[in-house]
Amino acid sequence: MVIVMKPKATKEEIAGVEKLLKNLDFGVHISEGSERTIIGVIGDKRKLAETPLELMPGVDRVVHILEPYKLAGRAFHPESTTIKVNGQVIGGNKIVVMAGPCAVESEEQVISTARFLKEQGVTFLRGGAYKPRTSPYSFQGLEEEGLKILAQARKETGLLIVSEAVSTRSLEQVAKYADIVQIGARNMQNFHLLQEVGRSRLPVILKRGLSATIEEWLNAAEYIMNEGNYNIILCERGIRTFETYTRNTMDISSIPAVKELSHLPVIADPSHGTGRWKLVIPMSRAAIAAGADGLIVEVHPNPKEALSDGPQSLNYDSFTALMEDIRKIAVILGREI
Ligand code: PEP
Ligand code: MN
Repeated sequence: MVIVMKPKATKEEIAGVEKLLKNLDFGVHISEGSERTIIGVIGDKRKLAETPLELMPGVDRVVHILEPYKLAGRAFHPESTTIKVNGQVIGGNKIVVMAGPCAVESEEQVISTARFLKEQGVTFLRGGAYKPRTSPYSFQGLEEEGLKILAQARKETGLLIVSEAVSTRSLEQVAKYADIVQIGARNMQNFHLLQEVGRSRLPVILKRGLSATIEEWLNAAEYIMNEGNYNIILCERGIRTFETYTRNTMDISSIPAVKELSHLPVIADPSHGTGRWKLVIPMSRAAIAAGADGLIVEVHPNPKEALSDGPQSLNYDSFTALMEDIRKIAVILGREI
């Protein structure tokens, strides 16, 4: 349920409503908009049967939310959320580009890629140290050693770090070295891990599950928010369909859909979304044109030699071409990059 206050509601009136709800043990989430304040209420509505909230001073109307997700929904928080991560803002006017190898393979690979990306105007370096691989015989990642390499790249270039956690144990490690933790598609419904991320308050990229509906994806965000962590960036990374030419089907339509349903920033991962490097540039263009707040793209100095996801990784030349295209689209959209 959401209580929409009148545009001229006073601080005392807002505090009065808040106090009443807290006394009844409701979860109360206040968002102060530029025009008016919205009070999001979580709890058993039956407790309010005898309390005509509409009649309280300053209250304009009470809106009942039908969606199962509340904190992640736009009704609760009508203005778009911006996530601040060590000097960078995600979800604002600036399009954020995150890039780097699928997996951290060596110091040389990560540092050289980071230097190249920095020159290109990238602000976040991605790299997996814990890899959720389909086969147990595939390269599983360098684990803490990989995180240390990422931290070194951060020190040398100033790029902020994104890295995936696959379990509560790896989350503790990632939290020590990375600026943003990634929860991958395979773990989107690992609810205990989501709750742990929620308690950590770390900025998190929450990827859409392989076969997740938009509602399931927003409910996953709700699990994190319900523990008090609102620093969530949603990431569309393609979904399973009957098509086999592409690794996944990049659901561009989910970007504007989720931007309408939720106030959280949305970025796109055209690398996993297609599985083919040749499709990464066109899908990046499409995602930004559709309203994505940023991209996360796999880049490797020599994709043919990559230990994971080489076929979908851009080399330096194609990444340079991608940035040129995105810059042009940003201008048309009135966004910075
Ligand atoms: C990755 O980012 O390398 C990754 C494994 O992504 P996803 O969870 O989207 O498959
Ligand atoms: Mn990958």
